[in-house]
Amino acid sequence: WPKSNAVDHFGKDAVALRIRPLSSKEVKENVSAAIKIAGKKSLVVTDFSDAQDPLRQDRPREKLYEFDAVYPETASQVQVFEGTTKTLVDYVLQGFNTTVFAYGYLSTAWRVKELNLTRFYNTSSATGAGKTYTMQGTPENPGIMPQTLDHLFQQIKKASRIQTSHGNANPQQNATSATSQSYKVTLSYLEIYNENIRDLLSGRPDYLELWEDRLRGNVVSGIERVEAKTAADVLDWLEKGNLNRTQEATGANEASSRSHAVLQVFVVKRTCNKKGQYTEQNGKLSMIDLAGSERAADTKNRGMRMIEGASINRSLLALGNCINALSDDSGGGKYVNYRDSKLTRLLKDSLGGNCKTVMIANISPVALNFEETLNTLKYASRTR
Ligand code: ADP
Ligand code: MG
Repeated sequence: WPKSNAVDHFGKDAVALRIRPLSSKEVKENVSAAIKIAGKKSLVVTDFSDAQDPLRQDRPREKLYEFDAVYPETASQVQVFEGTTKTLVDYVLQGFNTTVFAYGYLSTAWRVKELNLTRFYNTSSATGAGKTYTMQGTPENPGIMPQTLDHLFQQIKKASRIQTSHGNANPQQNATSATSQSYKVTLSYLEIYNENIRDLLSGRPDYLELWEDRLRGNVVSGIERVEAKTAADVLDWLEKGNLNRTQEATGANEASSRSHAVLQVFVVKRTCNKKGQYTEQNGKLSMIDLAGSERAADTKNRGMRMIEGASINRSLLALGNCINALSDDSGGGKYVNYRDSKLTRLLKDSLGGNCKTVMIANISPVALNFEETLNTLKYASRTR
């Protein structure tokens, strides 16, 4: 495993790819893999979709995809964090807005059931692409969200230590210290489901409005913001919030794979001079476990499901379009339409301008997931 496999944040936006390992069940069932890592930043996909077609059997189709970094099955949570997100923390502490996304397809087990394909696929082992594992992780293997907060608190501690070694933090007590700094970290956790915003921390069932605020960017009115002091606090809040995610009577937990979970961390840095006058700098870090992607054509189901599929695709589509327009360097500057979805409206001040973003595209190595994987690769390479 090369240590240097980190995305290059000299560029504004980065796309990393993570391949999850086969589950023990998948290993037992001997599922075939369709993905081969070609280098630190690329992979080769073999198209098996025509394997049954005798006319096509003699031409296996291989395609190379390139990313800012590729993380193989063996990559640890720490390696993914350090390679993609760690450097963003410094930007936030300097007052910039940054965003991390986990993108990937909707759990196959669910789609196979929903599309009534259980006759064709053994889905006992079919599972997701690894978005939630990447963003939240487990208590033993914490993901990007807790690791980022942990690092943030460490950096704040370090900054305070440096500052106190130069003079007392309280300007009133020590007239020789020129300035003093203090940080306050608060967070909010919300869900966008069906283009509706719900507060996961308060657990209130009502939908919240998104206000356009010229000074503060777009704000979710009435959302709860809690102060966090340690990474353990953050894990507690995430756990509490996850219990409030939209559930559906029929689909067990599957409604949550169709919603976007957005953790936003607000860092206020206050710098005081010896007269007690202060200035404040605001940085914001948004970390998003995106809804599972699904092709519109697959949403054959009527009614609610259809609406859900459409609106989730709308948010993902709008996000792709925005990132695409922002990274357009053909000159002239493309028009960026944030207004198309709740997600892009919410992130308006966290995508363009001085912001840095990283997209972590998650895929599974399983050939059954081939179509979904291809879609992920196409989306992710389009958003570069
Ligand atoms: P998604 O959120 O995309 O639907 P999950 O994150 O829930 O997918 O992952 C599906 C399953 O695979 C979970 O049981 C998860 O713990 C496991 N998993 C995903 N990625 C990894 C990984 N890198 N290492 C170990 N297990 C993983
Ligand atoms: Mg998930």
